[in-house]
Amino acid sequence: MSIVSRFAPSPTGYLHLGHAYSAWASWRRADVWRLRLEDIDATRCRPEYAASIAEDMQWLGLDWDGGIRVQSAHFPEYAAALAQLEARGLIYPCFCSRADITRAMAAPHAAEGVYPGTCRHLPAAERADKIAAGAPYALRLDNVGASAQAGPARRFFEEGTGWVTARPERLGDVVLARRETPASYHLCVVHDDATQGITHVIRGEDLREATHIQVLLQALLGLPTPVYAHHRLLHGPDGRRLAKRDHSMTLREMRAAGTTAARILQNFEAA
Ligand code: GLU
Repeated sequence: MSIVSRFAPSPTGYLHLGHAYSAWASWRRADVWRLRLEDIDATRCRPEYAASIAEDMQWLGLDWDGGIRVQSAHFPEYAAALAQLEARGLIYPCFCSRADITRAMAAPHAAEGVYPGTCRHLPAAERADKIAAGAPYALRLDNVGASAQAGPARRFFEEGTGWVTARPERLGDVVLARRETPASYHLCVVHDDATQGITHVIRGEDLREATHIQVLLQALLGLPTPVYAHHRLLHGPDGRRLAKRDHSMTLREMRAAGTTAARILQNFEAA
């Protein structure tokens, strides 16, 4: 079986060594390797970061197949996927502010880190009134309804672990769209992984939990579930996780300081 994988960064900053590791981890396994820019959040993404991603990949020698898929050019496709879920009654508007959500999540019986579903049961008339009054809202997935419609829990194969039963309830009623961002990360990822024919999603372990909801979305939208592999995250010499805010570690700065791509990849091989 030929392995089709991808690297799907969000152009919200310059790439750092942790991104390079993630890109390399999927590139080295793939027969076909795709590059995708997850730039749906116009408030955070910038064209100069998008341009630097291709530049960094070229410098590292990680050559991608075909064109670069740029998510912001595909909003109608995500809207169609959302409409499918909406038609099945699985989407509801949530009017909670961040403060409302924080307060509700602090309640004694709230599941940790999960939106407690405050707006799930709002009467239809109240929803319509709020929308008519121009109240801002996000569209959320009714997780319980979605799991019921999807049928028996789906399993996914995670390399290094084996078969895992998807537990989407661990993420609750995730946001699938907002007014300023008409599609969410989860929706776009499952749509694009299917559209790009991805057989193996190889990404950092910080996204392991997201897999549980993405597998549910695949079931609902009739999309295949790829094999998953979640690699460890790189840490800096101080033991802290490499993140975009560690500016000293951006690939362009390393390049400017004379680090070679060969050296970086050799270190990955040796790790
Ligand atoms: N765009 C996501 C990120 O930059 C990665 C998406 C994925 O690999 O599924 O964190």
